[in-house]
Amino acid sequence: MAARPDPRRDRTVQRRTPGDPSLDIARFPAVQRLLRSRAFPLGLVVAGQVVMWLVVAAGFLGAAVPGRNFATVFTWYFWFAVFLLLTVTVGRGWCLVCPFGGQAQWLQRLSFTGRGRRSLTLGWTWPARWGRWGLIVSAGLFILVTWAEEFFRAAAPGDPVFTAYFALFMIALALATFLLFERRTFCRYLCPLSAVVGVAGATGVVAGFRARNPDRCLTCATKACVRDAQDGHGCPWYVWPASAESNLLCGLCAECFKRCPYDNVGLFVQPPLTSVVEPSHRRLDAAWAVALLLGLAVFQQVNALSAYRRLDAWLNRTLHFPGYPNPLDYVGIICLVAAVAGGGVWLTMRALRREGPPAEGGSFAQWFTPLMYGLSPLMASDILARQLPKLWGHVLSVLPAAANPFALHRGLWGASASPLWHLRLVAPGAVVPTQLVVVGAGLAASLYATARIVRGELDGMTDRPRLVHAVSTAAILGVGAAIALLYLAMRGTP
Ligand code: SF4
Ligand code: SF4
Ligand code: SF4
Repeated sequence: MAARPDPRRDRTVQRRTPGDPSLDIARFPAVQRLLRSRAFPLGLVVAGQVVMWLVVAAGFLGAAVPGRNFATVFTWYFWFAVFLLLTVTVGRGWCLVCPFGGQAQWLQRLSFTGRGRRSLTLGWTWPARWGRWGLIVSAGLFILVTWAEEFFRAAAPGDPVFTAYFALFMIALALATFLLFERRTFCRYLCPLSAVVGVAGATGVVAGFRARNPDRCLTCATKACVRDAQDGHGCPWYVWPASAESNLLCGLCAECFKRCPYDNVGLFVQPPLTSVVEPSHRRLDAAWAVALLLGLAVFQQVNALSAYRRLDAWLNRTLHFPGYPNPLDYVGIICLVAAVAGGGVWLTMRALRREGPPAEGGSFAQWFTPLMYGLSPLMASDILARQLPKLWGHVLSVLPAAANPFALHRGLWGASASPLWHLRLVAPGAVVPTQLVVVGAGLAASLYATARIVRGELDGMTDRPRLVHAVSTAAILGVGAAIALLYLAMRGTP
C-alpha cells in the first residue's frame, strides 16, 4: 500500500465543477484524527442502539399512559422533529447515528468496525429494473408507514406498544434486506426514511465525502474506496467519491476516507442549498419523491380540518373501513398533489418551450426534475412545521420520561412527579407563528433555489425565459401561501 502523503502539505487539490465544494474539514488535524479512528462512527451507532432498544423495551414495559411513556414521548415529541432538523441543516446526518442500518450492517459484515472481508449475506444485487424506481420506493414505503402510524394513532400518541412495533418493523426489514442483498441496498432503495433524508437533506451544509483530486482517481489502480478487499469493504452506499456531485447518497460513514491509500478523500462542506441548486446530475426519482412527500405533508395538514374529517368518516361508512384515515382519501390527496405538480409543469412546459422540434424545448423530465428540486426546501419545511405543536408542547417531558422509562414508583430524581411533564417550551398562542416562520424560511429558500435553477437550466429551453421566471415564482408563492393558510386554519393542532 502506498505511503499516505501529509494532507496539510498536499497542494494538488482540484475541483471540477463550479458546484463542487472547496472547504475540506478533514484537513483539520482534529477532524482527521476523528475520521481515521475506528470509533467513528461506531460510537454514534452504539449510542443510537442504546436509545432504540430502550424505546422498544419501554414500549412493552413502560407506562401505559402514552404521554408518560418514554417510547412515545421520545419518538414522537422529540426524535422525529430533531431528525428533520438534522436533515435540513446537515444532510444525511441521521444516517451516521441510525441504529437500523448500523445494526444490520454489523451482522452483515460480522464485524463492528468493518475490518476484514467476511460477510453474512446472500449478496444479491438489487435488480436494475427495480433500481430505476430509486427513491420512489422509499418515499412510497414512508407513505405506507405513515398511514399505519395514523391508523394505529401511534404518534397521537396512542398505545406505546405500537411505537415499539414500529421500531421492530424497521429492525426486521433492515436485517432481512441486509442478509439477502449486498452492501446497503436497504439504505439506497428500501429504507422508508431514506427518501426524506435524501431529498430534504439537499438543503444541508455537509456535501459528503468526495475525492480531493478526482483526476488522481482516474489512474488509481486500487479503487479501494469502492472495491471490497481482504482488509475491508468498499463504499456500502455504492458511491465513488470521484464522481459524487451531491449529498444525496453519501451516508457519511467515512469508510472511503479510511481506506483511500492516497489520502485523496476529504469531507466537504458547502453553503446551504448547494445540492438543490448545483448538482450536475439530477434524478427523476428524487423529483417524484419530492412531489409525493409534498403530497404527504399537505395531507397531514388537511387531515386536521373538520371538512376532511367529515369526508373521511363518510368514506369509511360507505366502504365499511374500520377507521381514520381511509386509504382512498389518504392516497388520493397525496397523488392529487403530486399529479398537480407534474401536470402544472407539463402545461407550463408546453406553453413556454422554445419554438421548433420538441427536442429543442426539452423533455418533461428536463423541466420537472429541476423544478421539483427547487420545491424541496418548501416541502421539507412543511414536514418540519407540522411537528412543531408536539415539539413545543411536550418536548421537555422527554427528560422525566428518560429518567423513568419503566414507570417505577418514583423514578430517578423523582421523575414521576417532575413539573417538566406539564411545562411547554412555547406558549400555545405562539405555535402557529413559529410554523409560519419555518414555512416562510422554506418558501424563501425555494424561491431562491428555483430562480437559480431556472436561470441556469431552463432558460435555454424556451424563447420566453422571463415568463418561465414569472410562472415558476408565482407557482412557488402559490404553494407556499396555500401551506401557510392551512397552518392558520389548523390553529396549532398537533
Ligand atoms: S437510509 Fe435508513 S436505514 Fe440507512 S442509515 Fe439512513 S435512516 Fe438508517
Ligand atoms: S478516492 Fe482514493 S481509493 Fe478511491 S479511486 Fe480515488 S484515489 Fe483511488
Ligand atoms: S464510503 Fe465514503 S462515499 Fe461511501 S457512504 Fe461512506 S463516506 Fe460516503
